[in-house]
Amino acid sequence: MKIGILGSGQLGWMIILEGRRLGHRFLVMDSAKGPASEIADKSYSNESYREFLRECDVVTYEFENIPMEILEAASDEGKLLPSIDAIRIKKKRSTEKDYLAGKGFRVAPYHVCGTFDEALDRAASFGDAVIKTSSEGYDGKGQFRVRHGQYTGERPVDQEFVVEKFVPFDYEASVIVSRDITGTTYCYRPSLNFNYAGKLRYSYSPLRGRKMEEIALRLVKELDYVGTMGIEFFRDGADYMINEIAPRVHNTGHHTLRGFSVSQFEQHVLAVTGSEIIKPEQFVPSGVVNIIGNWPDNEAEKRIISMGGTTIYNYFKQARKGRKLGHVNVCSLSFSALSEKIRETDRILYGNKADLFF
Ligand code: AMP
Repeated sequence: MKIGILGSGQLGWMIILEGRRLGHRFLVMDSAKGPASEIADKSYSNESYREFLRECDVVTYEFENIPMEILEAASDEGKLLPSIDAIRIKKKRSTEKDYLAGKGFRVAPYHVCGTFDEALDRAASFGDAVIKTSSEGYDGKGQFRVRHGQYTGERPVDQEFVVEKFVPFDYEASVIVSRDITGTTYCYRPSLNFNYAGKLRYSYSPLRGRKMEEIALRLVKELDYVGTMGIEFFRDGADYMINEIAPRVHNTGHHTLRGFSVSQFEQHVLAVTGSEIIKPEQFVPSGVVNIIGNWPDNEAEKRIISMGGTTIYNYFKQARKGRKLGHVNVCSLSFSALSEKIRETDRILYGNKADLFF
């Protein structure tokens, strides 16, 4: 089939690499020209989306920030999977939170506010809080931390904000879940995630968390979702809260290429092309370390590779503080050896100077 991907980042790149093995062709649409555009069979800018849509048998997306007009056109032609409902919810943090809370999923207590002053007022009522811009915030961008009701940072322009109570979570975790058009649904074993400055630093699996898997299964069923989705959780006390959902393949699922019988990318391609998805078996513990802010020199690359069970992915992007430039997939025969390899990779990349890179 000719599969169209909206967005051209590293997630699209992986979808193409995995989907080619299955004999599909890939057309990518993004004016930004990321790594997926470099390897696509054909790439289009946003302006020529009509031609792009005509060419594709099915259209999917690898990031959320796609103009609504293009998503609607793809949906109207009956070609968009996952459906427009999933991405519509995700367009604003307020609609995402309202949807999840409305369906009875546990989320952090929150308020939706129209101005920054109102957001500060609401944040003060929580004591410790995070104010997030409702649109275009990701990886910690557009977030303002309020401590003990006080905020001393810069003032963003007035817009819609979601004010969340700060959750003193025990840890963060995520589940990757895939569902096909017949409703068959499988979860990957959960991953334990370490974020730094609002960005994923490393992540590894398996983590015990049957309840997270149950939440994931219920959510994709509610949405009548087709494709792969990432769901991020906070573990607080004895329960889980959904932090956010990503209606696409997910950064914490890169390691499914190494540790599992089927990757999240292959599952996504199977689902959106109308094939049956496969039960993912985890062969070995596996994880991912993000390369952020600076590309490691040859010596550092060599040290990472020579550990064994490590694969470096380079998104061929210009280095900049805070920017994701690539990642390392790591696997090992035991969980303890995996966590040691993850920590060693992190030490090689950042030493004790993560502040300089994130
Ligand atoms: P987000 O972009 O909403 O996923 O936020 C990025 C990161 O900020 C999360 O992975 C958490 O580490 C942290 N964070 C976001 N919201 C909260 C919250 N309500 N309480 C505590 N930490 C948070």
